[in-house]
Amino acid sequence: MGAVGYIAIGVVAAIAAFGFYASFCIGSGVYLKTLCRGRSDRRTIALTFDDGPDERMTPRVLDVLARRGVRATFFLVGERAGRCPELVRRMVAEGHTIGNHTHTHSGMFPLQGRARMAAELERTRRIVQTLTGRCVRLFRPPFGVTNPHVARAAREGGYAPIGWSVRSFDTVALTPRRKVLSRVVGRLHPGAVVLLHDRCEGADRLLEALIDEADGRGYRFETVDRLFEIEAYEK
Ligand SMILES: [Zn+2]
Repeated sequence: MGAVGYIAIGVVAAIAAFGFYASFCIGSGVYLKTLCRGRSDRRTIALTFDDGPDERMTPRVLDVLARRGVRATFFLVGERAGRCPELVRRMVAEGHTIGNHTHTHSGMFPLQGRARMAAELERTRRIVQTLTGRCVRLFRPPFGVTNPHVARAAREGGYAPIGWSVRSFDTVALTPRRKVLSRVVGRLHPGAVVLLHDRCEGADRLLEALIDEADGRGYRFETVDRLFEIEAYEK
């Protein structure tokens, strides 16, 4: 193969790498401008929980938040929200913010067409609205994957896309929780948006330890809409 061949391979590899970065790195902002971190001049962070509600773990997480006086943000999967109406109402009653994390959280979501994506978002929006009277505006794409279809569905639905700046990898069950904790604590920064999952075993204990550590470092907690000073719900 000549030089032209190698250059061609290099160009193709670079395009593929860029495509991967653009699609899988929530903070890249290539397809979708996503809010990932708040102001750096205030020691305020937002704890966010994806994939719930979970019948078993979410009540425990809510108990810890209530006991510690911390408000958080929950990105709900619509079909799970429909199965746990009292948990969804409790979140709102206790001052937490709810966002949209699609209806089924299908692994195929990033590959779907715009219309199916829009339908996924709309179903969840209706379920939350029926349960709480609120029309959600915050959206977090499943797996953090963004592409032109996701971007268009979010834009047409009037959503504010929310990412994260600190990923806990708490869904890897084999990782000891103290490792997850030290990973998160080591990456905390003013304006951090921390990605957690309330469906994970031990989510309540991890949360309590994280609140202790962040508290000891002088951080305050806010919901993401307050962190970014945006509206969480349609008026
Ligand atoms: Zn998720």
